[in-house]
Amino acid sequence: MIRKSFAAAALALAATIAPMTAAQASATTEGDFGTAAVTVTYTVSGAPSFRSQISTSISHWNTSVTNVRLQQVSSGGNFAFYEGNDSRGSYASTDGHGRGYVFIDYAQVRQYDVIRVITHETGHVLGLPDHYSGPCSELMSGGGPGPSCTNSYPNATERSRVNSLWANGFAARGEQVRIAEPQIFAKS
Ligand SMILES: [Zn+2]
Repeated sequence: MIRKSFAAAALALAATIAPMTAAQASATTEGDFGTAAVTVTYTVSGAPSFRSQISTSISHWNTSVTNVRLQQVSSGGNFAFYEGNDSRGSYASTDGHGRGYVFIDYAQVRQYDVIRVITHETGHVLGLPDHYSGPCSELMSGGGPGPSCTNSYPNATERSRVNSLWANGFAARGEQVRIAEPQIFAKS
């Protein structure tokens, strides 16, 4: 499932790569592909146990979408990752447009694939809603397909939606809400 999704993501990316001008090339960094992506920053100091998994999840987003790029910073940042114990499981508290935080619940990620959980919650920060009835190939189906689902890449529809949501950078606004995973993604 991961391999299939990765191939699809790679194809989608390949289609977006266009020749860069010298000015564009100098303004971009490795992995940017010369698009006009807005950069959203995040910190991991609040989730020290999951630095590696967060990095992997973020890379899945950065290789899947072109209009927004996620970049780790040591302090400040548009959003943050935290870890701990919460009976309600992992969740995102976010305006759905790059701000807020992701909480990673220890018990939940012992049951569910941690990369999928983190990538899913980050999807909320990027503006995607839950869709628990979706298949495993859909990232925002969350825990709907069950703990055996380890796909941690957004599908084509989700990638397209995020690109659309970020076509105007930070210009779009949202109201910060807590997007809990109350039942299906919550630990049993
Ligand atoms: Zn969710």
